[in-house]
Amino acid sequence: MNPLPAALAPPRRVLMGPGPSDVSPRVLAALAAPTVGHLDPYFLKIMDEMQKMLRSVFCTTNELTLAVSGTGSAGMEACVVNLIEPGDRMLVCRNGVFGQRMTDVAGRAGAEVTPLERDFGKVFSPEDIAEAVQRVRPKVVGIVHAETSTGARQPLEEISRIVHEAGALLLVDCVTSLGGLPVESDGWEIDAAYSGTQKCLSCPPGLSPVTFSPRAVEAIEARKTKVASWYLDMTMVRSYWGEERAYHHTAPINMNYALHEALRIVLEEGLEARFERHRRNHLALAAGLEALGIEFAVAKEHRLPMLNAVRIPTGVDDVAVRKQLLGTFGIEIGGGLGPMKGKTWRIGLMGETSTGRNVLMFLAALERCLADKGAKIDPGAGVAAANAAYADM
Ligand SMILES: *Cc1c(COP(=O)(O)O)cnc(C)c1O
Repeated sequence: MNPLPAALAPPRRVLMGPGPSDVSPRVLAALAAPTVGHLDPYFLKIMDEMQKMLRSVFCTTNELTLAVSGTGSAGMEACVVNLIEPGDRMLVCRNGVFGQRMTDVAGRAGAEVTPLERDFGKVFSPEDIAEAVQRVRPKVVGIVHAETSTGARQPLEEISRIVHEAGALLLVDCVTSLGGLPVESDGWEIDAAYSGTQKCLSCPPGLSPVTFSPRAVEAIEARKTKVASWYLDMTMVRSYWGEERAYHHTAPINMNYALHEALRIVLEEGLEARFERHRRNHLALAAGLEALGIEFAVAKEHRLPMLNAVRIPTGVDDVAVRKQLLGTFGIEIGGGLGPMKGKTWRIGLMGETSTGRNVLMFLAALERCLADKGAKIDPGAGVAAANAAYADM
């Protein structure tokens, strides 16, 4: 080929969108380690260690805990397709784009799907779920813990009790919450949960941690039909991660190295300390945004610490501001999704990205962009309010 494309030279960004988040140099170095075979004793040891670390992060003793090869959506598909047989009833709670996606995935897996709808940005109450499970009598209830499209946090504990009293299994999307908010898989009796590497675990996208409770494993073992996806069939994938070490597909070796290092970083910091860091930086950012007259799209008690969805001030051009943030300051934030397109910005403080430095730098850059676009703001007020919030912590 002539001329040959130039060698890769990706720009350095500050990833403050809905994912991917900033990746530690330690994780990038792990990606560059020598590739070994997928049955190499060294790699098998890495897999065992990853399973142990994933159990710690998911707060579970579930035997069937591993990293699916594929991004968060592959984890979603893996959970649904293993629990659902054609004709099974599934209730999917839909208050954002990822609940919508789960409805689509469940339908394709052959489930008889009943969506339970709430407006984007709202959450489900235990009463909502109680009414719906009585009406639908589902085998599985699917719900999103941290709706990245809206910035809303779904409380799960009471809902879990209601789902189990109705004899159903609870499937939870923890893609954005894992590593940034408590996910008590055992404490809340979650039956199947999936996450992704590129949100609060701060690893490049490519793997999806999943965990299945003994009750979920029983349901999988009681299936009358084969799992509809060959690639995501946990009855086979678990033979590779388990003692048999039966070849199923070639694990993405270096991605697993990266996740191994990312999990080490999470556990080195400690889950509690990590959640607290996410909380503080969120509060400082919120103070700064509010001082600039920018409102959140979600009620205070349901806001996610790692994903701040805010209303774009009237008269401000969504795309122009995001373009200036990226072009001038190298900062990526997200626009709105679905019905929130053009109406909200999604400012991520996930994993490595959640630092005081990023909060202050972002607020200063945003002030400049808003001033350049003629918005009426009090210059410096955002940075000052965030600093005051940090001083109070
Ligand atoms: C990002 C995300 C997904 C999808 O993950 P991909 O890695 O993009 O496939 C699913 N659910 C939620 C809540 C997410 O934030």
